[in-house]
Parts: sequence; structure tokens; C-alpha cells
Amino acid sequence: MTPMTMTFDDCRRLDAEDPLATLRGQFILPEGVIYLDGNSLGVLPGAAPARIAEVVTQEWGEGLIRSWNSARWIDLPQRLGDKLARLIGAAPGEVVCTDGTSVNLYKVLFAALSQMIPTGRRVVISERSNFPTDLYIAESLCRERGFTLKLIDESELPAVLDEQVAVLMLTHVNYRTGAMHDMKTLTAAAHAAGVLTVWDLAHSAGAVPVALNDSGADFAIGCGYKYLNGGPGAPAFVWVHARHASRFEQPLSGWFGHAAPFEFSPHYRPAPGVARYLCGTQPIIALSALECGIDTVLAAEPFDGKGGSMAALRAKSLALTDAFIALVEQRCPGRFTLITPREHARRGSQVCLALADGGAGAYAIVQALIARGVIGDFRAGDTRMPDILRFGFTPLYLGFEDVWNAVEHLVQVLEHEEWKQPEFTQKLAVT
Ligand SMILES: *Cc1c(COP(=O)(O)O)cnc(C)c1O
Repeated sequence: MTPMTMTFDDCRRLDAEDPLATLRGQFILPEGVIYLDGNSLGVLPGAAPARIAEVVTQEWGEGLIRSWNSARWIDLPQRLGDKLARLIGAAPGEVVCTDGTSVNLYKVLFAALSQMIPTGRRVVISERSNFPTDLYIAESLCRERGFTLKLIDESELPAVLDEQVAVLMLTHVNYRTGAMHDMKTLTAAAHAAGVLTVWDLAHSAGAVPVALNDSGADFAIGCGYKYLNGGPGAPAFVWVHARHASRFEQPLSGWFGHAAPFEFSPHYRPAPGVARYLCGTQPIIALSALECGIDTVLAAEPFDGKGGSMAALRAKSLALTDAFIALVEQRCPGRFTLITPREHARRGSQVCLALADGGAGAYAIVQALIARGVIGDFRAGDTRMPDILRFGFTPLYLGFEDVWNAVEHLVQVLEHEEWKQPEFTQKLAVT
């Protein structure tokens, strides 16, 4: 429990008692930076530069084409998938790391729609507040295949799942609010209504416990460069439940997903299981960097104890976000509205704030914080949602003193109205 009033000494004590504190040593973080944007781009694992150099100079430079065998490049997507499976409640052989999140969503949604064609159901449900690329992919795919994409608010679930609905496509943790769905309950409700589920784990993998098999989900995809620390544009991942594994249709039927690519047969024959979700030749350098990132998260496994997968990271993540919320409320009273759910079961690993007065300063405050080395980000609002300041908390490399200092900087930015300086209001291309 967070005490009523939190002090700097409390934060130091929490750091001293934190069993995960040593994991920060796995990363290269610039001096003077408090990084609260690991939900957008994870930080550089210390092992990555040497590993990438090794792949380039030895495996590529010396090994050349032989490295597909000798360095086992050929099954790298599967080997990484097996490692990642441990973090998302999947079994070995059920996950591959490949392509990007948007592309993987196209593949799994296509597969889900194909399965539902014979049922005559023609509606795909998603949330209006889902990440735009998910909605764009679904929109064009639905148009192409004669389905209708229906956008809803969370409160309409599960009532909206009627006999017209083919697929429920949700992002487990909302990118903007940090709100988390109950995957198991919603999946059960979908199945009871005859609906398949597609889950996007972009803000979940490496951030919160995920139990894909236990929840009985059908398809899942997720991102490699956020909480998995795989590097900018890192390959993403795909999971499919074993009950679909040998019959789903991959629309991008490239040769790496063929049952026997080196037979060079003129006809496509899908590989068994999730391997068919590979398309073309895999990005080995990028996959090698992703492996370093996944390893940084797996390094927390020995701390999990009986709680199982991600238990230790989850406990610290909740303690960090609790502390941040408490300190913002204590030290900036009345200034912000908490957008992220307070309830632990509904909270991802981020905290989003809106300005309580509804003013337009959110972007400038984030910029003023960045100038002070506190890196969070800004997401513009719309008619339904205010502008937000977004802070991601990655327990692998953040401590409670970081939380204290971040809030101290926020207090300073507000007290001295630093954010009103003209250089902080100029919109950059990437917010
Ligand atoms: C970050 C994110 C993506 C990113 O997709 P890319 O193809 O990697 O650009 C997709 N969906 C969600 C929900 C995300 O949070």
C-alpha cells in the first residue's frame, strides 16, 4: 500500500527494498534522463550493440550464406517465439517473431474472417478508441472481404456480440488510457456468442501478465519495440491457439511460410502451425536485436516465485504507477484528472493524465518535461477524449526515486510556468 503522504525517503526505501533494482544494469540509459516512454520505444539493452556487431561482422561478414545453417538464422523467428511464449502464457511452438504489428494484424484478422465466412456472420467489432493502425487495417480488410467494421465503446461489451458478429478485435491495454481489458472474461463471452477473438498485445507483452492459453483466445499479435525493448521498428509477433494451428489461412503466402521452402515447389503448401505466418526472408539483424530485448524481460523470471510469469514485474509496475499517481495528486492538487483506471486489475503499465481545467497546455508541459530529461509523450484528444500526458513505467529500469524526481520536475514546470515558453508549444512531427 502507498502511504497517505509519500516522501523522498519513502521512495529511497522502496528502491533499497526492491529485488528487481539490479535489472537496470542490463540497459544503456543516458545520464540525467528519466525515461517514461518505454511504452512507445523501449531502451537499448546493453547486450545489443555487441550482439548486433557480432551478427554483422561474424555471422554475415565471415559466415555469409552459410550462417542460415551455421548460425541458425533459419529458425530465429521460432526460437524467439519460444522465448516470448513464456511471457504471454503461450506454449513453445505457438509464437513466431516476424513482420510488423500492422502486417501481423492483417494476417490474423484475415485468418479469422476466413474461418467465419461459412457462418454467414459479417460484422467485426472493435473499440473506437483502439489504436488507429488496427482500425485502418480492419477497415480495408473488411471492405475487401465483404465484412462491416463496427466501432463501439467499451460499455457496449459484451451486449453487442450478437449473431451477426464474426470477430471481436481488441487491444488488451489501451494505448491512450492505459485501461486493461479482462481477456479471459471477454473471450469467454465472445465464444459463448459464437465469435472469434483477435487480441493486440502491443502494450501488454513484457508489461503485464498475459495468459493466452488460459484465456482461450483465438489469435494474438504484439509489438517488439515497446516493452520488449527490441529496437525501433523491431519485428513483431504472432500467436495462434493450437485448435486453429493447422487450418488457418495466411493471406501473405510467402515461401518462408511454406512447409518445405527449399523444395522450390511451384505450389504453396503451408507449414504446419504458426510457422506459416512467416512470409518472406526474415530480417536477421533486427531479430537479433529483438532477442536481446526479450532477454532483458526474461531476466526478471527468477524473481517471479510462485506468482508465475511476469508476477515480479507486475508487482513493481503497479507499485511504480501507484506511487506516481499518489505523488501527482499530493504535489499538484487539482491540476490533473487521472485518465488511467485506479483499479489494479484494470490498469496497464502506464499513467495518463489530462489537464483538469481542460486547457490546451498538455503538449507544452510534456515538451518542457522532455527539456528537463523527463521523457514521456503526448497524445492529442478528440471530441470524446481530452489531450493527454502519457507516462509509461517500465519496472526493469525505473525506480521509485525516478518517480519522485519526475514528479518534482513536473511541479517545477508548473510552478514556474516553464511550459508557456514558446519553444515548447511548437508541434514536432512525432509527438
Ligand atoms: C504501437 C502499436 C501498434 C504499432 O504498429 P506498427 O505496425 O508497429 O507501427 C499497433 N497497434 C497497437 C495497439 C499499438 O499500440
